[in-house]
Amino acid sequence: MEVHRNYVGGEWVAGAGTIQDVNPSDLSDVIGEYAVGDAVQVDAAVEAAAAAQPTWAAATPAERFAALERIGLELEARAEELGTQLSREEGKPRAEGVAEAQRAAWIFKFFAGEALRIAGEHQRSVRPGVDVDVLREPLGVVGVITPWNFPLAIPAWKIAPALAYGNAVVFKPAQLVPASAWSLAEIVSRAGLPPGTFNLVNGSGSAVGDALVRHPKVRAVTFTGSQAVGRQVAMACAERFAKAQLEMGGKNPLVILDDADLDVAVECAIQGAFFQTGQRCTASSRLIVTEGIHDAFVEAMVEAMKRLRVGHALEEGTQIGPVVDEGQLKQDEDYLRIGLAEGAELAWGGERLERETEGYFLSPALLVGTRNDMRVNREEIFGPIATVIRVADPDEALAVANDTEYGLSAGVCTTSLKHAARFRDGLQAGIVTVNLPTAGVDFHVPFGGTKGSSQGSREQGRYAIEFFTQVKTAYTRP
Ligand code: NAP
Ligand code: MG
Repeated sequence: MEVHRNYVGGEWVAGAGTIQDVNPSDLSDVIGEYAVGDAVQVDAAVEAAAAAQPTWAAATPAERFAALERIGLELEARAEELGTQLSREEGKPRAEGVAEAQRAAWIFKFFAGEALRIAGEHQRSVRPGVDVDVLREPLGVVGVITPWNFPLAIPAWKIAPALAYGNAVVFKPAQLVPASAWSLAEIVSRAGLPPGTFNLVNGSGSAVGDALVRHPKVRAVTFTGSQAVGRQVAMACAERFAKAQLEMGGKNPLVILDDADLDVAVECAIQGAFFQTGQRCTASSRLIVTEGIHDAFVEAMVEAMKRLRVGHALEEGTQIGPVVDEGQLKQDEDYLRIGLAEGAELAWGGERLERETEGYFLSPALLVGTRNDMRVNREEIFGPIATVIRVADPDEALAVANDTEYGLSAGVCTTSLKHAARFRDGLQAGIVTVNLPTAGVDFHVPFGGTKGSSQGSREQGRYAIEFFTQVKTAYTRP
């Protein structure tokens, strides 16, 4: 099998070893073999990036626009193919894989435009005859570390703004999804960037990720992943005063009030909790339901869950694909056992499913009768498991929703304008939704959380400039 190599200093290079990329819907299906780098290769990539970055920073806005637009156009033209590959390696249904590839294309096109709009400010000084310019400058070399659950979109929303604002990039994708990362890198490699401006070092978090985070010439790290790894990244960056942007987990509440439209509430909960196998940082994992609608909601949820089609990600009609790997499946099953041991009841699901191919199939699970202090309501599960917490009234619902160390996304289902406004203002989260799933966000507006979910400035949209640039204040006496 041909080995897909890493990309360092404008050359495709072998790593210290290789890994195989396996399809979680069909363990007999090997997607490809990928080079695995090490700390030595990270050093070479960072040195190449540091050498190339001034040339890229000096490129005109039109040149940066052209390179990013070319990447966006190719992603769009190949969305079917790349989305299918994404689904094959990660396990989300094919339509969602294709939609993600399309989204990655839009992100590159958006930041192509942003490269033309890097504006500063001009002011008069308080001192006579002196002008003040506030300028936006690139940071230098940016390390990009991404998780496996959005193998194209998350790399895109970090790499595109990093490049748009004149930085060089060393990209370390999650080892579970090397194919999407490699395909994206291959497209970027043909976009006309100065050699070394963009580098791909696939490899483990403990070797490649750690070396990248600690490298003295990496001025900033943008990371998405778990809270545990995010904490390590933050501490390593703090030690050498590098900038860090961390997007981490969630324990996102969806509040269902008595006056909710039941169909809307069930649709939001099913979509938010179980689609993409619940493997979304914005997944609705805690369903907080007021007394008057509780029983009807649970009954309608179970009916809807029975109809969900779990299967091979590439099969027509599949709504929920497999869990991503053996380790995550074990974690999901462990949390089901923990929840039951703590006194929760299983209303439906949570069973390993047999399909024609061997894969990690689990039926979506609903735990009812849970309390917010149970581990299943404190810790991120990252699987197709939701809990129901019964509360007396909107006041208790809001208090329980906010009683968590996380703060990424939070939603409410209600037909009352008064409740909608109160929850929109009162929910402690970076993203709030009304009568919509907590997951599923646009690419042209800011994304990120509060409390233990995020650190650093927001990703995406016009707000991305805050992280990927630094400000210089220039005083001039003409
Ligand atoms: P993870 O285990 O934290 O890994 C994230 C990335 O960090 C991977 O590329 C991983 O490499 C790397 N890594 C691991 N150890 C490292 C170290 N010591 N130093 C530097 N890098 C290291 O997360 P995951 O399992 O891939 O993804 C699931 C998590 O991501 C969930 O917690 C989810 O909530 C979170 N997530 C958050 C958002 C958001 O925007 N808030 C979006 C999506 C996902 P490997 O290849 O070795 O794993
Ligand atoms: Mg992991």
